[in-house]
Amino acid sequence: MFQGNLYIISAPSGAGKSSLISALLAQDTTHKMMVSVSHTTRKPRPGEQNSVHYHFVTVEEFEALIKDGVFLEYAKVFGGNYYGTSLPAIKENLAQGIDVFLDIDWQGAQQIRKKLPSVKSIFILPPSLAELEKRLIGRGQDSSEVIAERMSKAIDEISHYHEYDYVIINDEFNQALTDLQHILRAEKLTISYQSEQNKGLINQLLAK
Ligand code: 5GP
Repeated sequence: MFQGNLYIISAPSGAGKSSLISALLAQDTTHKMMVSVSHTTRKPRPGEQNSVHYHFVTVEEFEALIKDGVFLEYAKVFGGNYYGTSLPAIKENLAQGIDVFLDIDWQGAQQIRKKLPSVKSIFILPPSLAELEKRLIGRGQDSSEVIAERMSKAIDEISHYHEYDYVIINDEFNQALTDLQHILRAEKLTISYQSEQNKGLINQLLAK
């Protein structure tokens, strides 16, 4: 059965990752792309909906899911909160030929690369630390302590950029979106993808 591609997208918070993924999906005409909804123990921000932005769960619920082996990866990311990707939903969508995007941090990316070496990973960089801080403050979602924590975590996150297959610098949004779309297109043109997707044609061409 032909499968969709699995992509990891990581970035320090404020680099524009969520906006890029939303725009990518909004412009997708194939309806063959989805973002995995993670579980987290952090509290919802204003406007965030359960099962849309995250599955918001308690620490006890999260730890029970760990025990049940539900997570493909999980990590403590911000403020001691757990974040995790559950495997069943991803598997089902990939099996239907849908490309699945995981918006996760470097710790989760490392765990998944070990389990699924064919995963493709993309790192989004901000054009500068000053711009990153400006964007975090502009979101108006976090207290100044949380922003300070996010800035120090940002540098930690950025230090892992070289573990990824692709890097996009999100300076001009539309250019960054085009870069992302080009990566996805190139991934559809690899030998492994094309030889599977166009088996019939290739067999005909070689049938003499
Ligand atoms: P936020 O609290 O801003 O929604 O997310 C904080 C960070 O957690 C982001 O960098 C995001 O990529 C990461 N994250 C979200 N879901 C997951 C997940 O399921 N696993 C891991 N490892 N990181 C996640």
